[in-house]
Amino acid sequence: MITQSPRPLQRPAWQTELARAVRDPQELLALIGLNNHPQLASEATRRQFPLRVPRGYIARMKKGDPDDPLFRQVFPLIAEDQISPGFSADPVGDLAAMPAPGVLQKYAGRVLLVTTGACAIHCRYCFRRHFPYADHNPAPSQWEQALQYIAQNPSTREVILSGGDPLTLTDHRLAELAQALAAISHVKRLRIHTRLPVVLPERVDSRLLQWLEHTPLQKVVVIHANHANELDDRVGEALEGLSRAGCRLFNQTVLLRGINDKINTLCDLSESLFDAGVIPYYLHLLDRVQGAAHFEVDTLTAQCLYQTLRARLPGYLVPLLVQELAGAPSKLPL
Ligand SMILES: *Cc1c(COP(=O)(O)O)cnc(C)c1O
Ligand code: SF4
Repeated sequence: MITQSPRPLQRPAWQTELARAVRDPQELLALIGLNNHPQLASEATRRQFPLRVPRGYIARMKKGDPDDPLFRQVFPLIAEDQISPGFSADPVGDLAAMPAPGVLQKYAGRVLLVTTGACAIHCRYCFRRHFPYADHNPAPSQWEQALQYIAQNPSTREVILSGGDPLTLTDHRLAELAQALAAISHVKRLRIHTRLPVVLPERVDSRLLQWLEHTPLQKVVVIHANHANELDDRVGEALEGLSRAGCRLFNQTVLLRGINDKINTLCDLSESLFDAGVIPYYLHLLDRVQGAAHFEVDTLTAQCLYQTLRARLPGYLVPLLVQELAGAPSKLPL
């Protein structure tokens, strides 16, 4: 059974930062010193997947530059309105793989929990931009069903908290969940897939570190950074905190046209990650989600970049180039 940990008396600072995230394209433009942008997406597209970006992330953008690699990840462009053949609403087959509400099991030994639909930032290339979260997140009462599924599947050694972004949940909820998972004897590892340490480093506060430090599970945190400019000192502190709390840190990157599809950009990213105690894990080809076609890097170019990375960097700084195909037994190395 889940026991209650004390609820915080005061709202943590990160929740205030999360609530203050910029949602208005004109405000974002003004903050980086641009008057307007000729290619803003239609209102329908912006309503369906709204702009959302934390202020601390905006502060890392270059002023007056519409090609800034951070700005381009979050600003909704008219290109998103286009219907592109081969790009679908559920490119990775998630809806077909749910044995219980919020539970995805595609690969052996690992169960992924869709803990929430919420993110601190809306990345325009996100494969979940059309995912009907509201129908598939486990409501608090449905955690029991997910936990039961895991308990009844003794091959499950690792539980991956994903979303949306699991760290948008309160520490109270997360600590409860970690405790319930730790009580299942065959579960050894807790893995958290999160972009928050990068886009809202305030999230890594003493409350988070406290329950992480105290869970008896082995802990893996996979962050998501696409460009070295995303990693400033504040992010470095957050990552250091996670390391000190006993988390092993990895990074996944999405290969994005016009953002990180240059060899020097990818080398700088790997070096900066290592400086921050993070090992590059995956370099993903874009999932072919409707509205993201303008970010796609073709497979041949991706393979060329990968070969050059191998020639330039020590092996442990080269992320594995992978693609996700619905129905495959693992992510596919290219
Ligand atoms: C990516 C993913 C995993 C984890 O795969 P690894 O190769 O172990 O990182 C697990 N479950 C699902 C549904 C995934 O999409
Ligand atoms: S943080 Fe991750 S899940 Fe959230 S919008 Fe960005 S890519 Fe998608």
